[in-house]
Amino acid sequence: MREDLEQLKQRIPLLDYLRRRNWTARRAGSRQEFVGLCPLHQETRPSFYVNARKNLFYCHGCGRGGDLIRLVELSLDLSFRESLAHLERQPAPVPEAAPLEQAALFYQGQLPHHPEAQQYLWQRGLRQPDLIQQLGIGYAPGGNLRPHLTALGYSHQLLGQSGLVNTQGREVFCRRIVFPWHDRQRIVNFYGRSITPAAPPHRLLSRPRGGLFAWETVSAFPAVILVEGLFDLAVLWQAGFPNTTCAVGTHLNEMQFAQLCQRRDRRVWVAFDCDDNGAGQQAALALAQRLENAGLLSRLVQLPAGHDPNSYFVGGATAADFAQCLDRAPRPRP
Ligand SMILES: [Zn+2]
Repeated sequence: MREDLEQLKQRIPLLDYLRRRNWTARRAGSRQEFVGLCPLHQETRPSFYVNARKNLFYCHGCGRGGDLIRLVELSLDLSFRESLAHLERQPAPVPEAAPLEQAALFYQGQLPHHPEAQQYLWQRGLRQPDLIQQLGIGYAPGGNLRPHLTALGYSHQLLGQSGLVNTQGREVFCRRIVFPWHDRQRIVNFYGRSITPAAPPHRLLSRPRGGLFAWETVSAFPAVILVEGLFDLAVLWQAGFPNTTCAVGTHLNEMQFAQLCQRRDRRVWVAFDCDDNGAGQQAALALAQRLENAGLLSRLVQLPAGHDPNSYFVGGATAADFAQCLDRAPRPRP
């Protein structure tokens, strides 16, 4: 019994458990000690200390302390036995995911300090603070994420594995608006949009991107709108089309295609960019035909030439204009 307990505590380090519950902390003095707000009582100044080496916590505010099991007992109001059962049900830790969660919080915290980023969002038609918050949009100025994560105790190796830092040790996102990409409650990737013309506009971390964007909520709708980019998605959500999802680009991976096909009665409006060279239209047609072949109903949304949903709204289109585009969208014809 005693050994099982030790194994359990090793399998789920206290610090990882807290971080997976969005506990943010900074290093306190020694390399292995961290301090943050107490999850057990209301406070505004951090007094909750975690010693990562000893795997123990202590709060100077409420005077409570102990190990992982004690924390679960106190925070979830469970008995010792129930706490063990709760911990045994915890999924195996995914060590490289934790830095992504921390990075998302960090990027979100940067946004209010960078007028150039806020101005960019405004230009792209993202004007509702609630929506920016809901999508978890942040800003990567570049250069300050790595020291932040290192101070939180993440090794260079782990940061490299996460994809946030490249093999030269440089941050992958610099001067980019950043959207976290969730899959089953976890961040699996980020999309970063450069705000300067000097850099390639679109960037994802070199790690799997998972399913369709926000599929957990969008999958509830019998009819969905599929767009190319996250700025398209954002303006559509803002305009009252929360059934919009995105794969970033025109190519869907197998998992994303399968997600659309989960319901055979689903209708999919494909609203890709209407490029001058016809690339978006061709990709939309090919995808719409594949969906029809899989037994779904699909429609090809035609926007004015040269527009994508984002530029359409930025150019002054209203929700009613877009709804009309949906109504008029034809089925795919080869
Ligand atoms: Zn406390």
